Amino acid sequence: MAKVAFLGLGVMGYPMAGHIAAKGHDVTVYNRTTAKAEAWATQHGGAHAATPAAAAAGADIVLSCVGDDPDVLEVALGADGAIPAMRDGAVYIDNSTVSADVARRLAAAGAERGVGVLDAPVSGGQAGAENGKLTVMVGGSEEAFATGLPIMECYGARVVRMGDAGKGQQAKMANQICIAGLVQGLSEALNFAQQADLDTDALLEAISGGAAQSWQMVNRGHTMVKDEFDFGFAVDWMRKDLRICLEEAKSNGAPLPITEIVAGYYGELSEMGFGRNDTSSLIRRLRKG
Ligand code: NAP
Repeated sequence: MAKVAFLGLGVMGYPMAGHIAAKGHDVTVYNRTTAKAEAWATQHGGAHAATPAAAAAGADIVLSCVGDDPDVLEVALGADGAIPAMRDGAVYIDNSTVSADVARRLAAAGAERGVGVLDAPVSGGQAGAENGKLTVMVGGSEEAFATGLPIMECYGARVVRMGDAGKGQQAKMANQICIAGLVQGLSEALNFAQQADLDTDALLEAISGGAAQSWQMVNRGHTMVKDEFDFGFAVDWMRKDLRICLEEAKSNGAPLPITEIVAGYYGELSEMGFGRNDTSSLIRRLRKG
């Protein structure tokens, strides 16, 4: 059993850390808002620490699942950051969705300290984190991947090494590019169906078995029809993810015309006050009146 530290107990991190503890690993958690760390330690019987450095000292594996680029840099390399406090040969795994640049900066800082670093963003949402069935896309060395794999398998149903540092984040970008266009298409289809007075239950039953089928259709179709968005993957997180995709595309030259339009639509939703709504709320923009 490994000595593990987990930094960031949000919607994703809290259950992910719980799955690691449930497999019998010795887990110490850190959360910026201490009350959440205390609640986690009480629920799962682990320890909690006051800083990322204190949680990481002596750990074999340190994981983080926080927010955007500056947040990862703060918990990993800031004043009380984890990486400088880690022991030689330990592995740092970042599960946040951030830029490939940050992934490469962490890998370089880890290499100086003798710490392996993996960028390991996840897909599967809150439900996937709670069920321990996430998809994990990983960048980093084969050695660090082999060390980190048993821990990532505690919360991941599919854990795939994509290549060296930054490749996990680039894979997650491709995932988000797919989702952006897809949710807009699904929104247009469902809004069209309602305007045409189609029975949407019958429609979803029919087309979710055919070529138009998608995870979004199966898991979000019925709630989109009912205008229910108070759950899931927040619009503001998606705006961050699409910003990262568009920045990366500037450097690799890939055109992202639909992604750019949909990123603008998510910006409108945020301005309308729906930034914490699920990403399937794109359909709101199409409603009449
Ligand atoms: P969340 O519920 O908002 O939680 C964010 C966590 O990060 C909280 O524990 C927060 O601490 C901590 N944090 C943020 N900034 C910090 C900083 N500067 N220093 C220290 N701690 C900081 O977010 P989430 O939904 O779990 O998402 C976390 C990451 O996973 C994001 O990168 C997101 O894009 C990605 N992701 C999310 C989903 C999803 O469905 N939610 C799916 C796939 C990937 P406090 O408690 O103190 O605020």
